[in-house]
Amino acid sequence: MASRTQELMKILENEPAYRLKQIEKAWFDVGINSYDEITTLPKDLREKLKQFPWLSLEVHTELKSREDNTRKFLFKLADDNLIEMVLMGRKNLKEGATDESPDRYTICISSQAGCPMKCLFCATGKGGFKRHLSAEEIIDQYRFAARILAKENNRVANIVMMGQGEPLLNYDNVKRALNVILANTDLGETKITVSTAGVPHAMEKLLTDDDFPPVRWALSLHSAIEESRHAIMPSHKKGFLDWLVDWAKRYREKFPSRTHYIGFEYIMLSGTNDDERHLQALIKLCKKMPYFRVNLIPYNKISDPADPTPEIALPEDPGFKVFERTPPELIEHWHESLMAAGFTSTIRYSQGQDIAAACGQLRNKIK
Ligand code: SAH
Repeated sequence: MASRTQELMKILENEPAYRLKQIEKAWFDVGINSYDEITTLPKDLREKLKQFPWLSLEVHTELKSREDNTRKFLFKLADDNLIEMVLMGRKNLKEGATDESPDRYTICISSQAGCPMKCLFCATGKGGFKRHLSAEEIIDQYRFAARILAKENNRVANIVMMGQGEPLLNYDNVKRALNVILANTDLGETKITVSTAGVPHAMEKLLTDDDFPPVRWALSLHSAIEESRHAIMPSHKKGFLDWLVDWAKRYREKFPSRTHYIGFEYIMLSGTNDDERHLQALIKLCKKMPYFRVNLIPYNKISDPADPTPEIALPEDPGFKVFERTPPELIEHWHESLMAAGFTSTIRYSQGQDIAAACGQLRNKIK
């Protein structure tokens, strides 16, 4: 299926180059709701554009958390594939903010429908890979969120690409989507975090590709021991960790700014990657790394009996495993040990657990 960009390019073939920019700008104007309303375009062009839906996705289901300010949207794409986006809201706590100040939302967006990486702990991979998202399908998740939040006088403050999919396997579309979002919103590059399980050839390309915007990167580490990382992340290639340290040094040279740290993500899986040996291996790896932070992540159990979505977890599936959560005291011990060793470490507290919107739970599941 040709993406809308390709179809647009065809229509714009004989138009001046700035037409595409005009269209993209209008996409982000929450006051405009159809191509016909883009009055900067000639009438015949508006007519031709009418063949495109204004948004490339429609809401299939919306779930609201009862526990916190989290909302999950299940979207249907033109070919009936389903993807998810999560909105996580928090009060504006900045100095001078009042109760009336807009809530600040982090939106978690997807880069693929499904995912081919097959990490053992993640529900998305279990459902298999469907296809890459087009740049528009990525952009439109933002546009959708911005529109509903604008109606509530709230705003998108951050984007994390941590929904379904591996962004670096969809390099060109992710790149175009990020560039279009950055060009048409007031979000700065460091308000966007893209998370990867680690795709070396694409990460190499990032260092020489000046058109890829300098967003912030998160690296799903989950173990600093090769064999155990491979056991939970089948995409892990031998030698990855040494290569990663070297890559991080080159990344640091290219992006020396204070805001460009690498965010290591480490899901704590009881009895799998949370013993003293793993902690020491992580500290050893950290000592070699130039500039990073460690985010310790409590595992979101996908087959919790209280979870209204039991069929997500089929333990007999060899490509998927139900783990136990690391006790909070042990996570705390890791956190303190990392801090004592001189590294910045945080613990992620998940939102949206009750609607299967927390990390690793995104699997097109409807209550
Ligand atoms: N493919 C990319 C983007 C997906 S987001 C990547 O792997 O980074 C992946 C992140 O989701 C992980 O780093 C982790 O932070 C989170 N995650 C996945 N499964 C999880 C689970 N069961 N519990 C908690 N976090 C999970």
